Amino acid sequence: MKELIIFKEGEIALKGLNKRTFEDAFIRNLKHRLNKLGKFEYTKAQSTIYAIPQSEDIDLDEAVELGSKVFGAAALCRALVVEKDFDAICKEAIAYIEETAMMSRTFKVEAKRSDKKFPMKSPEICMELGGKILEAYPHLTVDVKNPQMVVTVEIRDTAAYVHAGNLPGAGGIPVGTSGSAMLLLSGGIDSPVAAYMMAKRGIKLSAIHYVSPPYTSERARLKVERLCEKLTPYCGDVAFYCVPFTKIQEALRDNCPEELFTILMRRLMMEIAQRIAEEKDMQALITGESVGQVASQTMGAIVCTDAACRMPVFRPVIGMDKTEIVEIARKIDTFDISIEPYEDCCTVFTPKHPKTKPVLADVEAAQNAFDFEPLIAEAVAETELKVIKL
Ligand code: ATP
Ligand code: MG
Repeated sequence: MKELIIFKEGEIALKGLNKRTFEDAFIRNLKHRLNKLGKFEYTKAQSTIYAIPQSEDIDLDEAVELGSKVFGAAALCRALVVEKDFDAICKEAIAYIEETAMMSRTFKVEAKRSDKKFPMKSPEICMELGGKILEAYPHLTVDVKNPQMVVTVEIRDTAAYVHAGNLPGAGGIPVGTSGSAMLLLSGGIDSPVAAYMMAKRGIKLSAIHYVSPPYTSERARLKVERLCEKLTPYCGDVAFYCVPFTKIQEALRDNCPEELFTILMRRLMMEIAQRIAEEKDMQALITGESVGQVASQTMGAIVCTDAACRMPVFRPVIGMDKTEIVEIARKIDTFDISIEPYEDCCTVFTPKHPKTKPVLADVEAAQNAFDFEPLIAEAVAETELKVIKL
């Protein structure tokens, strides 16, 4: 019995002349994820990508699980490869679906014939194979509207494929096809979700995290590294930059109006992020901000933050409610880590009454009243890089 994994292209299928670039990026990313399971060969035809295992002992369920997190496929499934002969198709399909058939009461057959040279048309394939399945599994009945099992036969140019239904793919477009950006990653719920959403649009991510020892602990930093690990099945390897932020926060505390502390801190975070991003040729910043969620995320605060940015800032969760963000955090399995109660540098020295409607001119004046440049340069120079591998 020869099996493989079929990936159905989503948006990639709609691309024009550059479709190949997207397909190649998808295959490259898929290869990177599946390598640890064993060797696969990859081919593409008719908006479908085939991952063909090169040895018997490869765990295909695990491969499907990993493959379902690679952006670029709308659907995927494990499928049986059969010779394009109708008797062979029936015989092998009946054996192949046994486990699912025994757990189902209703079914239907779907046939797709993209090889028009095959002598039977799709409705005929459905009828004939449906009849044979009923003979083999007499407890089943046909239900075309709401079947528990869908047996799909695809007659393609190279072979026939049989499977018992598609699983949803990760959607989106392949990571690496939309340039690269720096994610401001805290230990919270929102920024890992922001990472997932921008990686889904093809952006290659690096992450930057600010720490303020001794106010923040080593364990808080390790928590953020674990969040990066959770992101790698979707994002691939993540370059993780860790910035020592204590001196800047102490300077802010000692030299700036207390009610502007948070907004000034955010502007300085952005400044450091974009210096490293520019040096590494990244084109944008990403944050997990959502309008109105906290004082630093009011419209006025965002205006003041953006005024400190030379590159676009993507905020994919800007219009989402916390419950919607949490739903994605659970799906990508970052939620349980995010809610672990470690301190974040944002909560160090937070003012009792932060300004929710900061005026940009006041903010800029407060920032200009102290020379932060040497501290910024020092923080950038002392930033540590660690690549979090898949
Ligand atoms: P999150 O759940 O992502 O922590 P939050 O609701 O706690 O967000 P804030 O603490 O105001 O919101 O942070 C807003 C955004 O600023 C975060 O989504 C993240 O992008 C960035 N950020 C906050 N703290 C840090 C940090 N210590 N290091 C890097 N980025 C940070
Ligand atoms: Mg936070």
